[in-house]
Amino acid sequence: MRGKDMAEQWHELTPTQRELERSLFASECEVCPRCGAFFKEGTHYWSGTLKRGNPKDLAGVVCNLVNDPRCINPEKGNVEGDSWQKRFEKAGMGEAQD
Ligand SMILES: [Zn+2]
Repeated sequence: MRGKDMAEQWHELTPTQRELERSLFASECEVCPRCGAFFKEGTHYWSGTLKRGNPKDLAGVVCNLVNDPRCINPEKGNVEGDSWQKRFEKAGMGEAQD
């Protein structure tokens, strides 16, 4: 499944990137040990881009796929958010590519 491959790649952050992100966000934020996603004062930030995100989208594209018990995303298991399937459909790609 292609979406899953993309999610796995997304998880492959280098230690340097992780350190950089940690230093940027300093204390009082939680970092998911699996996704590297930040939760600062209840707000989710994407790892890598550090853009403000939606934890439901994070769940749909990452946490639900890896399904790691260490994941701290409070919305893990929630399927209301974005997902690779929805993204493909939005991009007009659907399943037709296969
Ligand atoms: Zn996670």
